[in-house]
Amino acid sequence: MSNTNSKPGLILFGIDGATFDVIKPAVAAGHLPTVGRLLKEGAHGILKSIIPPVTSPAWTSIMTGVNPGKHGIFEFYTLKEDSYNTRLVSSIDRQTPALWNLLNQYGLRVGVLNVPTTYPPDPIDGWMISGMMGAPTFGKAACFPPELANEIDELGIPYPMERRVRKSARGHYDFAALQRQIDSRSAATLHLLKQRPVDVLIIVCNYTDHVQHNFWHDRSLVTSPGQTIEDMILYAYQQADHFLGQLLNLCGSQTTILVVSDHGAGPLEEHLNLERLLREAGLVVLKSGQRHLSTPGLCLLERIKHTAPQWLRKLAPILWYRKTKTFLEEQKLARIDWQRTRAFNIGTYLGLRLNVVGREPQGCIAPQDYEDQRQQIRSLLEEYRHPDTGAPIFEVYNREELYHGPYVSNAPDLLGIIGEDRVHLVDLLNPHNAPLFTDWQKMKKIAPYRQAGAHRPEGVLIAAGPHVFAHCLATEAQLVDIVPTVLYALGLPIPSYCDGRVLTEVFADDFVDSHPPRYADIAMQRQAEGIEASVYSEQESEQIRQRLRDLGYLD
Ligand SMILES: [Zn+2]
Repeated sequence: MSNTNSKPGLILFGIDGATFDVIKPAVAAGHLPTVGRLLKEGAHGILKSIIPPVTSPAWTSIMTGVNPGKHGIFEFYTLKEDSYNTRLVSSIDRQTPALWNLLNQYGLRVGVLNVPTTYPPDPIDGWMISGMMGAPTFGKAACFPPELANEIDELGIPYPMERRVRKSARGHYDFAALQRQIDSRSAATLHLLKQRPVDVLIIVCNYTDHVQHNFWHDRSLVTSPGQTIEDMILYAYQQADHFLGQLLNLCGSQTTILVVSDHGAGPLEEHLNLERLLREAGLVVLKSGQRHLSTPGLCLLERIKHTAPQWLRKLAPILWYRKTKTFLEEQKLARIDWQRTRAFNIGTYLGLRLNVVGREPQGCIAPQDYEDQRQQIRSLLEEYRHPDTGAPIFEVYNREELYHGPYVSNAPDLLGIIGEDRVHLVDLLNPHNAPLFTDWQKMKKIAPYRQAGAHRPEGVLIAAGPHVFAHCLATEAQLVDIVPTVLYALGLPIPSYCDGRVLTEVFADDFVDSHPPRYADIAMQRQAEGIEASVYSEQESEQIRQRLRDLGYLD
């Protein structure tokens, strides 16, 4: 069944954080010729993200066709076993087959590049280079087959896993590093497509999201003396558009193209010190008589962390950064009185885990009181009002309202959206008595390296190809619809465990009439043989956490 003419039959092209709020005006001004052409020739509409719209679980839902309760990834972080400490999730946490596994089962060869949470890479028929949260450095461990690493190195374009792209306090910005990230992705893809043809190509550009997180409010950047890019966000989209154009040049008229994003984007308005809010609400209780690091002390440490010159970071990344960070995080956990703490937050969005006897290491809520306590905490958050505006802040859900499947019990007990996604949580390191809310302008004065953009639930879907009917889609598609739709476009049966549906409205009526969707009973549990059980060492884990902060995923 494998393709012999070296042109992929389908390209799934991900643009992390892509939003029509940026795309439509840019297309109208003629800045995105390839996307503009696809919008005209194909179908497009909103692709709705999961709640909360976090990159790792969102891409995993796109790539598996199931909700997080089935694939098992809920955040960038998950709790370590029998601990209040967290660890980074990896591809090993994914419990269901991904699109590439399904396509392989159907005899199709697949190329996968830069999809978040694909480290370690799956041993697939085709090739894979891990994406965001990938290997600490590019090399054999990030590639399948491992020899790809040498092949890519020989291209002579360094392949950074991810690069610091934010403005620092001193206005420092490593534009060249960002450009290397952009160039290396396209060079590697074009090379691999030529040398190792595939039937389906799956690729994600994530620099768009990084740039949105960092440049939403102030978009210009001086890249070198006398050179200014007026709109860095537009620049990132143009780079993705150019890359997509290069790929389309390699395709024939029979290739189906799906452009998707894991969530949309918009301005960030405020930062919330959730730790303090939970403490004032009596949910988190500190041990009495604890000595804390003073606020000025923590502020100084944090400022040093963000503003230290690159050479110092390179010279002493472990000694200087890691010890400070680990020390402060441990210090923070150590000062919590777990016997009296009813709920604590995990991750980058609202994700409260109740402290339950027999489930958490030092639980204080009896299992029979769980539902009552959860309802009380939920009501407390729902009734909370912004101290200045009086507006509600939290949109809260019980986990089973959002997710279903065998892994729901691994999720936080209460999840949600804060300030309609316009409010971010401040860093774990934030001093415990820092203000509850800080607006972005004020935060910019205190800490210019803080984020300026945030996620939104409305992502994008653009489809084009031989059977696609050109129009604007009336209903929102869901992330879990992508796997069924990809399989349908390729004439393949859809696993009956998938949560999504075939987006038949994307295709021409006569095609749908003559091609009803087919379903197959395929095992939902992923077969993960050949993948190592342990992924990140403590040191690697810290490097990746730091990278997430640099990229703007954590403040
Ligand atoms: Zn994302």
